Amino acid sequence: MTEKLYWNDPYAKDFEANVVKVDGNKVVLDKTLFYPTGGGQPHDTGKIIHENNEYKVIDVYAENNEIVHVLDRNPSLNQNDKIKGEIDWDRRYRLMRLHTAIHLIDGVIEKNYGSGMLTGGQIYEDRARIDIDMQDLNKEKAEQIIEEANKVAEEGHEVNAIFMPRDEALKIERLARTETGRELIKNLENVRVVEIKGVDMQADGGTHVKNTKEIGKIRLSKFENKGKHNKRLEIVLENL
Ligand SMILES: [Zn+2]
Repeated sequence: MTEKLYWNDPYAKDFEANVVKVDGNKVVLDKTLFYPTGGGQPHDTGKIIHENNEYKVIDVYAENNEIVHVLDRNPSLNQNDKIKGEIDWDRRYRLMRLHTAIHLIDGVIEKNYGSGMLTGGQIYEDRARIDIDMQDLNKEKAEQIIEEANKVAEEGHEVNAIFMPRDEALKIERLARTETGRELIKNLENVRVVEIKGVDMQADGGTHVKNTKEIGKIRLSKFENKGKHNKRLEIVLENL
């Protein structure tokens, strides 16, 4: 099992680790800061350094409790080699700000408009989207939601990740917002929960900023009416 350093410290930018296995240009380490694609958050990029060689990390994914780093070429690495890793921090920080922004908007919608309407979300490097099943949602109302979210972000709520046993997690309503999320929790011994104090609580494996002030100003960049049960909000952040 790869130790997830990005959970211990989402603000760390470099690390040292040992090579566990190499298969072509795919490398597994004993621990890593590289976030693998999942939960709507794209993978980190960066580099792995060994002796005089520097390899670009072009893809990262999770497979059977291991995190696989895909390099730009086959490395000359062997089991137990010590490497240094560096993540592309600008990209990661953008993804963290956008990820927390989405949770914040989720929390505002649940609180002010009722629960059970969020159906999905995806983060990109320069924007994010949220899918909502709210029949009377239109562009004006979407603008209003974003305005409310901005007010809450400015209040400076702390963001924390905590672990709780499955049974405790299953008792909290709306901890997972989708059916697949609820199924996932049932298979976990301990559930990681990301909490925006007083605003939102969700089972989540992503990386987040530690205070909502770091999100900056959220702007609605697109509103799409994709049918009665699917409205899509796209957001961008100022100074992203
Ligand atoms: Zn999330």
